[in-house]
Amino acid sequence: MPRFSEIVGQKDIKEELSSAIATGHVSHAYIFHGEPRSGKEFIARAFAQTLLCEKVAEAEGTLPEACDECHSCAQAKSRNHPDIIYVQHNKPNTIGVDDVREGILETVQIKPYSSQYKIYIMEEAEKMTPQAQNALLKTIEEPPAYAVFLLLTSSTEALLPTVLSRCTVLNMMPVPDEDLRRYLINEENVPENRAEICIAFARGNLGRAKAFANNEDFEKIRTNALSLMKNISRMDTSEIMNTLKEISGAGFDINDYLDIMAVWYRDILLFKATHDMNHLIFRDEISSIQKVAQSSDYEGIEEIIQALDTAKCRLRSMVDYELTMELLLLTIKENQD
Ligand SMILES: [Zn+2]
Repeated sequence: MPRFSEIVGQKDIKEELSSAIATGHVSHAYIFHGEPRSGKEFIARAFAQTLLCEKVAEAEGTLPEACDECHSCAQAKSRNHPDIIYVQHNKPNTIGVDDVREGILETVQIKPYSSQYKIYIMEEAEKMTPQAQNALLKTIEEPPAYAVFLLLTSSTEALLPTVLSRCTVLNMMPVPDEDLRRYLINEENVPENRAEICIAFARGNLGRAKAFANNEDFEKIRTNALSLMKNISRMDTSEIMNTLKEISGAGFDINDYLDIMAVWYRDILLFKATHDMNHLIFRDEISSIQKVAQSSDYEGIEEIIQALDTAKCRLRSMVDYELTMELLLLTIKENQD
């Protein structure tokens, strides 16, 4: 690990990279573009390990695959390969010229120690200042034959057009639900009904699915959120405020909390429209879903879903937590019978 065969989804990227390895037409610079936790780093590491493997398997008709046993693979796996360099930066939110100089420019002219390639991996490349990007650009434009740059980013907009045009851009795609399901059940031993909920929240993002599956708070958040939503129409304002204190006091991740609420109301909307429980995420809560679906109207449920979105946006832009949540819960109370 990480090996090509262990990459979940991302078929196009796998094909592009393994054919580059098979044909020897490796670009000098790749950009892995995708949202946080979508698996960019895993793929970059798998690519680097395979490129440097001493006994890479290239059986006809199959993709090249690192042997996972040679000296180079062992070094790559433990992040101790002298020819795989992880570019570090000193300040948390910016990658400056000095970081590029120290991490790349000062060493890039030194030939690889033991391999055919020398690979630089830079995470969060969008944090590079324009000056840093320009410093890097000169090297990407005329790189030594052995140099390969893997830039990982969640935003290509932050990169200069001149940098982008020199790189092969690989866009991470959402992982199909059935691949996520197989992975969670077979590799992470997640029970099936819990896997379904994780998949619903993950929206094609493997890292998110895994984080939900392994989050010990998840069951607590789920129980708390469900009980709130089932009872909110009977609660008075002071009870709602108490619940609010409970949520923040428990240290729950409020985004997870709001996600669970959003999935619940989507279920209600879906059930209201189709009367079919087979596609519901919270199938095991069917009687409560049925009840709310019958007693609330479409506009009300849609308003709640909208309010959940608004609350998430507000919290992201640091609007006061209590105010945002109070507004949200009152909107829910008003629109749900
Ligand atoms: Zn190997």
